[in-house]
Amino acid sequence: MDKSNWFTYDLSVLKKNLDQKNLKIVIISHRNPDGDAIGSMTGLYNVLIKKGYEVNMIVPNEFPSFLKWLPGAKKIQIFSNNTENAGKLLKNADMIFALDFNDLSRVREFQENVSGSSSYKIIIDHHPEPGNLADLIISNTTVSSTAELVYILLLAMEYGDLIDKDVATCIYAGIMTDTGCFSFNSSRPETFQVVSDLLNHGIEKDKIYGKIYDNFSFNRMRLMGYCLNNKMQHLPEYRTAYLSLSAQELKEYKFGIGDSEGFVNLPLSIDGVIFSALFIENKDRIKISFRSKGTFAVNKICAEHFNGGGHLNASGGESFDTLQNTVDKFVRLLPKYTDDLHKD
Ligand code: 5GP
Ligand code: MN
Repeated sequence: MDKSNWFTYDLSVLKKNLDQKNLKIVIISHRNPDGDAIGSMTGLYNVLIKKGYEVNMIVPNEFPSFLKWLPGAKKIQIFSNNTENAGKLLKNADMIFALDFNDLSRVREFQENVSGSSSYKIIIDHHPEPGNLADLIISNTTVSSTAELVYILLLAMEYGDLIDKDVATCIYAGIMTDTGCFSFNSSRPETFQVVSDLLNHGIEKDKIYGKIYDNFSFNRMRLMGYCLNNKMQHLPEYRTAYLSLSAQELKEYKFGIGDSEGFVNLPLSIDGVIFSALFIENKDRIKISFRSKGTFAVNKICAEHFNGGGHLNASGGESFDTLQNTVDKFVRLLPKYTDDLHKD
């Protein structure tokens, strides 16, 4: 299969930069890192260390334990746990690879460390409208995931020989999680050609699934049951259903990072529902997640009303009001979108 036409970026400067000796590279990704963030970071990391570079990975805050087993993931530094060392790494970096985000505010904790760094910066991302925050922007909204784009970049860089089972496992985990196990964002035939390559590298597809999806805590299952039974609101006239969780409820269920992963998708299983939302009360803000089906664009609503953005069918944002006021605002907005909600 000829994949040479999959990649149209001019990589000459990147290649020249990678030719330098004693290169210090830092790979970063967004706040609340998900499977694609961690999978694409570790996939790239495992290739770059084979090239002999000094490579570090930094994310703003903790990531779920069901991603910690990915090869290399234990090496990821959490900025908020070690601000000084991570700050130094960013300052001294020759190159920064920024994966799976399009706006520096997504690395809130170390946004200024990145913008103030004189390193050569590369964005690899699949979100719409990437900000102008890098020397090289590799952005493609048609790919399933950043992990898929990293894989294509590795081939274009002629690093194919360095892709082994570990690298393939990381890339597959990114693609699988960002497509909801190939249920969305995955209609591009090339995605399956990439997956086919990954299988040829010996990935254990079913084991990867099990380690990520059958790896939740008992508390998470109880919280999910509570949410579905007591917290789900269904507004059939707007084809919408939503969930909200207060700080007190999270405490009662001994909430841990990653425990609410996937909750926002649950209401979309209700017949007729095409728009779902999840509101979670954090210490200083309400974290908001939106999902939709079809053409209903949730990233626009997030950007216009909830300080966020993302993809057409999966977006997130935040509110600095109370949980109740945030949910009320959301419900009040729905009539404005009645036509769009009934379009498909
Ligand atoms: P999640 O609901 O899983 O946190 O986020 C879904 C998607 O929404 C992410 O992949 C990301 O594209 C986007 N997103 C989440 N939170 C934010 C945010 O605070 N700001 C922006 N711009 N995008 C977000
Ligand atoms: Mn992604």
